[in-house]
Amino acid sequence: MTVPHDAVVQPPPYLDQDLGTYVPGAVKKLAKLGLHTVGDLLRYYPRRWSRWGDPATIGHLSVGEHVTVDGVVDRSTTRTMRSRGGVILEVVVRNGPQTLLLTWFAKHAGALRHFEQQLKPGTVGLFSGVVKEYRGQLQLLHPEFEIDDPMSFEDEAQRLIESRRPRPVYGLTAGLRNETVVSAVEMVRRLLTPADIPDPLPDEVRGGMPGIVDALQGVHHPLDDTERARAVDRFRFEEAFVLQAELARRKARFAAQAAVARPPRAGGLLDAFDARLPFELTAGQREIGELLARELAAGSPMQRLLQGEVGSGKTVVAARAMLQVVDAGGQAALLAPTEVLAAQHARTLQTLLGDLAEAGMLGGADVATRVTLLTGSQGSAARRRALGEIAGGAAGIVVGTHALLSEHVQFADLGLVVVDEQHRFGVEQRDVLRAKAGGVPHLLVMTATPIPRTVAMTVFGDLETSTLREVPRGRAEVVTHVVPADKPAWLERTWQRIREEVDRGGRAYVVCARIDGDAKKADVDGADLVSDLPADGDAGAAPPPRPLHAVLEVAEQLRGTPALRGVAVGELHGRMSPEEKDRALADFTSGAVPVLVSTTVIEVGVDVPDATVMVVLDADRFGISQLHQLRGRIGRGARPGVCLLVADAPEGTDAATRLGKLAETRDGFELAAVDLELRREGDVLGAAQSGRGTSLRMLRVTKDGDVIERARVAARELVAADPDLAEHPALDAAIQQMLAGEREEYLDRT
Ligand code: ADP
Ligand code: MG
Repeated sequence: MTVPHDAVVQPPPYLDQDLGTYVPGAVKKLAKLGLHTVGDLLRYYPRRWSRWGDPATIGHLSVGEHVTVDGVVDRSTTRTMRSRGGVILEVVVRNGPQTLLLTWFAKHAGALRHFEQQLKPGTVGLFSGVVKEYRGQLQLLHPEFEIDDPMSFEDEAQRLIESRRPRPVYGLTAGLRNETVVSAVEMVRRLLTPADIPDPLPDEVRGGMPGIVDALQGVHHPLDDTERARAVDRFRFEEAFVLQAELARRKARFAAQAAVARPPRAGGLLDAFDARLPFELTAGQREIGELLARELAAGSPMQRLLQGEVGSGKTVVAARAMLQVVDAGGQAALLAPTEVLAAQHARTLQTLLGDLAEAGMLGGADVATRVTLLTGSQGSAARRRALGEIAGGAAGIVVGTHALLSEHVQFADLGLVVVDEQHRFGVEQRDVLRAKAGGVPHLLVMTATPIPRTVAMTVFGDLETSTLREVPRGRAEVVTHVVPADKPAWLERTWQRIREEVDRGGRAYVVCARIDGDAKKADVDGADLVSDLPADGDAGAAPPPRPLHAVLEVAEQLRGTPALRGVAVGELHGRMSPEEKDRALADFTSGAVPVLVSTTVIEVGVDVPDATVMVVLDADRFGISQLHQLRGRIGRGARPGVCLLVADAPEGTDAATRLGKLAETRDGFELAAVDLELRREGDVLGAAQSGRGTSLRMLRVTKDGDVIERARVAARELVAADPDLAEHPALDAAIQQMLAGEREEYLDRT
């Protein structure tokens, strides 16, 4: 068979080439780190940089971690083990005041001789392995090591240069030596010409920052700290810029598409709804309402994020937007993160609409529509009916959980997508629902977790933002106290307090982190628990975390508590069926069961105006934003509320800071700022959104606000001038790479 000439396969671009071509010996090991191509390896930035004689690094080790440590050998001893036979070599490595023990076992002394010779006192090197603890002493068992040999350089000048270089220390896995990564990177880098590595940062954006080739040298083989810092800054900016360019492009792409205009209609559902609202809209609700009305009436899709303090009344704002769309002949879908919340939204809308929601029913109003609920656990008959109403258009308003995203759900004319509590969803899910409209629907995303601006820019950068800051007038005060968990008298007083509130017609939530006491079951039910490992990494010395309170046990216990004699105590958690959950919530709302022991399923959105007390057990284990959300469940009516955070939080701990701040303020934005300071970087985006974590390696959303801001301005300018990035193929490629990484991570999580 002959192969036609033009079928000769082009080699893939340099960055896509397999590492096997260049470093065949290391391929398998590098693959364990997820590094397969030249591009992967070059973008595998060092974790840190060290220098000969650097100050301490041993202080921050935790057991089980794979670490690479610099140090100098202090002493080395070989002895025979009487009990087990064989010999043991113990080498103590010192770095500043700290020491680390390296241990080798062997049958015969001869097998250890090689190590003994290499690790003479005074030897400087890098040592890596998994940290273990034996009799209170941290050690590395059979570690890998690389000895520094400053004498090996040809002349004094060279040696001086080398000794000043910050040396890259990479994240490693067992069996992979730092030196292997170093030499693989160098091998690949040596073959580089600038033409091989197109720079995602266009010249005009880059300004005085180093180009890609120099920057790669700056992180992998810097001459000095200045060069390294400039390279790191550049990559930080690049990450922010690539992300902002994608967000700007997304935004521009949607904006360029036509949406069906859904102008308000006088005498329609919205007017009727407004006429029967039992309260006055706040100024903020009115203002944002007008803005949404205008945007819905336009021929390009609305893309808006509505941030609002807990209890600021976002649901009404969304309902009014949905009704405008229904008045204009379209459908609106409301996506909620939990079944409890979806059911509650449907109920709220039905109540607020009254006969306006009874289209086709006897006594329904002329202009009426229907509110249809769709959740995953509905029976098949209910589900079929719902699907029919949605597809046929009878359902003007569709409320649902993830079930709405299923391919079986088809809309007659979807005009508006509302996503409630967006922090529980990913961008992909938002897009799946949007794709169910014939054209591009309008989009309203709501979140009650106040998001610091830098995070909002990173996660929701494609949306315009509106903020509801005020909480409706007449909203009651809520006082918050931290109750020490180890004081039984205080707890007794807490139950007493519940009793008093119940006697006055109030309701109380008691929140637990777990469903039942069986520690083996993964039953934390959405609780976003914090693990406050001591900052010095000395996890071994800390007492084991105490078992968390569990709904089933606490409910049982409260039923037997004298203070609550005669008071019905209910339960609510994720393992109950939807009917059971509905009933529990209905009984609580009506007051038949005025004490509800619950997991964090009540965290988002649950709205029972008579609830006045909230007790959170193990409050020290919850994050700030979750506690803020939980507390938002009380004080929603006219009566003042009290929130009791039962916690084991000794002074000076992060937990104490969190709880102290919560007791001090109810301003979600202030709390979000504290939260951001206390949280570890990875948690911030991880909790907020899927994906974004993998593509941000150098950028720190918590600290690099100014970088993000600059990148955003530059990216918007560039995208405005070149919406398809036709002139900027390298940037386009970098965006595709980022998206591929996010998709991968998203798939991993589902
Ligand atoms: P969130 O913004 O946290 O989602 P909701 O939309 O659940 O808050 O509203 C909280 C409560 O406030 C609901 O009971 C709602 O009916 C009520 N509410 C909303 N707007 C107003 C208003 N303008 N005046 C009085 N109460 C209001
Ligand atoms: Mg809400």
